[in-house]
Amino acid sequence: MQGKIAVEEHFRIETTRGSEVRYPGSYWAELPAKLLDIHGARLAEMDKAGIEIEVISLNSNAVQGIPDLAKAKDVARKANDALAEAVAKRPDRFAGLGALPMQEPQAAIEELKRCIRDLKFKGVLVNGFSQVGSADTAVYYDQPQYRPFWAELERLDVPFYLHPRDQLPSHRRAYDGHPWLVGSPWGFADETAIHALRLMGCGLFDDFPRLQIVLGHLGERIPYDLWRLDHRLGKVPNRPAKRAMAEYFRNNFHITTSGHFCTPSLLQAILTVGADRVLFAVDYPFEDHVQGCAWFDQVEIAEADRIKIGRSNALALFGLTRLPQS
Ligand code: ZN
Repeated sequence: MQGKIAVEEHFRIETTRGSEVRYPGSYWAELPAKLLDIHGARLAEMDKAGIEIEVISLNSNAVQGIPDLAKAKDVARKANDALAEAVAKRPDRFAGLGALPMQEPQAAIEELKRCIRDLKFKGVLVNGFSQVGSADTAVYYDQPQYRPFWAELERLDVPFYLHPRDQLPSHRRAYDGHPWLVGSPWGFADETAIHALRLMGCGLFDDFPRLQIVLGHLGERIPYDLWRLDHRLGKVPNRPAKRAMAEYFRNNFHITTSGHFCTPSLLQAILTVGADRVLFAVDYPFEDHVQGCAWFDQVEIAEADRIKIGRSNALALFGLTRLPQS
């Protein structure tokens, strides 16, 4: 399929280097340089793979992993300025999602407004919880102090991409002795799904019913467990949220194919939220353009759904229909 739009593709600035270097070997060694490149090899690979537009966001943990508020604000601002400049060079091929200093709700609101109004970003991407004040503190956005932030996001009518991040060492005792489970093989989805469930379960979408959250990796395993979640929650009294989790998931979430090129999982996602709420993504450079696109281009779904997932859903969700031409 030509004209695909890939919506979870990453870059970094010099100060956010390092979080992606985990193991020896060329795959890991090449990531820092690939993250810095936007208009070179990345664009050439997009051309080969039939990707017309990439929606770019900062790497992880980046801003969320900076406990010092002033530094988090500074890094977010620098990263967003760098991304805006890169997008401006090829606005026909790239769009941006802003990074936010979620350590303080008011700081996040201010940078959110700047991202959407001044930098013309199409939404924001946040790497899970924020470390606030100390490295061992994890703050999640279901907390009451974040309600003004969500109100502003709903008012601006832009999506919030909830992206994985590293769990804090003190919060992953179940992984002790099994470091290979930490991160993208298992821990990322574990962490991100819990955060998404906290947002659903706290009643956030009762208060702000037009919010749209995006989850990558075909929904961070939630689609597979959604029926059982509500089945068992039906026996738990006095919960804050008014409606079933499945209702929130189907009305307030979109899910993308980033880094999860598995046909049964895609079908499960389509069955769970409908083809109008599934979007194509690669997760470059952590994943390969060619592998992701070769799978998506031939996966056995209706052509009408391929066009929705590969392109038109992204045009609608991220408001890309008025992209200027270079
Ligand atoms: Zn990613």
